[in-house]
Parts: sequence; C-alpha cells; structure tokens
Amino acid sequence: MSKIVCPFLGFTTEADRVEKPCMLEKCTFYNTSEACCTFHEIGKASREYLVSLKKLAEQNELILLRDRCESFTPDEKTERMELYMSQGQLSKAKGDLERATLDFKKALILDPTNPRAHQTLGDIYSVQGIFDEAISAYKNVLRCDPDSGETWIKLILQYRAMYSHLPHRETLYAEVTQKLRDELRAPADLLPRSALRVVAPVVYGD
Ligand code: SF4
Repeated sequence: MSKIVCPFLGFTTEADRVEKPCMLEKCTFYNTSEACCTFHEIGKASREYLVSLKKLAEQNELILLRDRCESFTPDEKTERMELYMSQGQLSKAKGDLERATLDFKKALILDPTNPRAHQTLGDIYSVQGIFDEAISAYKNVLRCDPDSGETWIKLILQYRAMYSHLPHRETLYAEVTQKLRDELRAPADLLPRSALRVVAPVVYGD
C-alpha cells in the first residue's frame, strides 16, 4: 500500500474526512517515473523557491548594509551593532537561528572583530552541524582573545565532530592542534597556559 496520503480523496462531507491513500497509476497526476504525486512535487518546489528567495533577500540586506556602513559615524555603527546583537540574541532564544545568523552577520559588518558575534555565530553553526563555519567563527574569536579556554574547547570539539567517523581521527586531532598553533601564530610555549590546560585533555583524552 502506498504511503502517500492524497490531499483530495477521502472527503465524505464538508466536515468529515478519512485519510485515503494515493491511487497511484490510476490517477492522472501520479508521476510514475518519480513515484510521487505531481501536487506534492509542486508543493516541494514552491517551498524550495521561497527559501531561495528568502536567502537572496538576506544577501541583499547584507550587501546594502555593507555599502551604507562607510557613511555611518562611529556612534551610529556602535548603536546599530548593539541593536543587531540584541535582535540576534532574541531570535536565537526563540529558536529562529536563520534570523539570528543574519543579525549577527550584520553586527559583524559594523564591527568585524566583535568576539561576541563570532562566538554566537559559531554556537549557531555548531548546533546546525555546519562544522566548517563554526570552526571559522571560533578561530575569529581566538584571534581577538587567544586566552578564551571555552572557545578553544568549542573549536576542538568541532574538529572532533568533523573527524569522528574517520578511522585515523587521533592523528588528525594531533595535526589540527599543530595547525592551530601555526594559524594563530602562537607557538606551543607561547600558547596561554589556560588554553593549553583545556585543549590538551579534549584533544588527547584523559
Ligand atoms: S497522484 Fe492523484 S491520487 Fe495520488 S495523491 Fe496525487 S492527486 Fe491524489
């Protein structure tokens, strides 16, 4: 029996409805090659189109702000940056991560080295499983604040998650630690002790 429930069949009266399965090949709207209902395909394509429109609008918002940014006074930049940060936190608390991401990106246009914005963006990407973006965000935090032990842990955890399914993950963790030292221009003996204390157990285990 088909798992597709027909949106049109099953109405006995205006008030009552019993779910009826798709009639498959007996229906004109059944797409045999894709094994699905044409109306379901239209619905899916419409949703995808709306998502792409939304992303385009968000990109345009960012481009517009980047263009206008130069004309803002330092006070205006700070004021707007704080506004976007607050809006972003609010959206994040409500679970609207897409809106929150847009707000934190706007805050970073006005204040590119803002560690709070980078940190929160990293947290959002981490929750979404977008490891490479989370890694970039946490690295940006560490460039401003290499002593942030919490961020070191988060960064390493992203690498762990990204490599967790690979058989040679232990080697990769060790390589990553070395690479991070080079990238952040912090040789082993210059890495903050607090950072080393928290990174080592996470990378190598107890
Ligand atoms: S193909 Fe026809 S019967 Fe099947 S779900 Fe679509 S409209 Fe209903």
